Amino acid sequence: MRIGAIEAGGTKFVCGIGNELGEIEDRTSFPTEAPERTLAQVIDYFKDKSFGAIGVGSFGPIDINPNSPTYGFVTTTPKPGWSGFDFLGALKRHFDVPYGWDTDVNAAAVGEATWGAAKGLDSCLYYTIGTGVGVGVYAEGKLVHGLMHPEGGHVLTRRHPEDDFAGVCPYHGDCLEGMAAGPALEARWKVKGHELPVDHQAWEIEAFYIAQALSSAILMLSPQKIILGGGVMQQPQLFPLIRAGVQKNLNGYVNAAEIVKNIDSYIVEPGLGTQAGLSGAVALGIRAFNQA
Ligand code: ADP
Ligand code: ZN
Repeated sequence: MRIGAIEAGGTKFVCGIGNELGEIEDRTSFPTEAPERTLAQVIDYFKDKSFGAIGVGSFGPIDINPNSPTYGFVTTTPKPGWSGFDFLGALKRHFDVPYGWDTDVNAAAVGEATWGAAKGLDSCLYYTIGTGVGVGVYAEGKLVHGLMHPEGGHVLTRRHPEDDFAGVCPYHGDCLEGMAAGPALEARWKVKGHELPVDHQAWEIEAFYIAQALSSAILMLSPQKIILGGGVMQQPQLFPLIRAGVQKNLNGYVNAAEIVKNIDSYIVEPGLGTQAGLSGAVALGIRAFNQA
């Protein structure tokens, strides 16, 4: 079976064709521009290909409630032209196939649970720490939607004692995204994240915030695996700092071997590497195909 996959990011779009083994057989990418122009490129890519379903993992917030009149729309993004855009509708006018439609991070979470670091488990969290912070939640074999979809990048955190940075989230100031996404690192230290030395205090502070969010998520959701991706997590020294922070915060209370003994294989990099998003969209497409 062949599945169309779209990883719709705020900066770039990746389109591809995958199969039920999670292999990507073909792919292309282009910068995200005005929605009409971007969708024209998407349609052009898929128009002479064959596929049984399309999976879309999209930047958001998006409407993923099938009973809502604006199901399939991008909702409140500041990205010019995209707020209120009927993304899924634009695709459906061209391709009459079942659609999987979810957030980019939920797609990555289900991709990792199907073929990657959480393969064989029925729960995981996927964090991306990049231009923003997003969290995909996969629990009991399903992606969590609820009221709209989880927005775990904006949880509130306790301040680091040596950090007086105000935070850059336009909604909350010093939420996790406001304190720990790439633009926060850059605003706090006046250089881009990849220019900071590996032994800089920035990484201890960065890990302090991420570890808090993960600790709360573990207490709330009890995930069997936590996967950390996105540009900022290209700094491998963050992993041991985050793992140690989580152990310290939880202080033995969550008495699972995964946390107290084997945390190195509990908080991990994406098993699918940079392909987590596109493979995740394939996984969404497969689920839609099987439910249709
Ligand atoms: P996006 O979130 O837009 O999909 P990324 O996940 O690549 O894209 O995140 C981009 C952010 O990550 C930028 O703020 C950038 O400065 C930061 N970043 C990218 N690479 C690194 C790196 N090696 N070390 C630290 N920060 C990085
Ligand atoms: Zn926020």
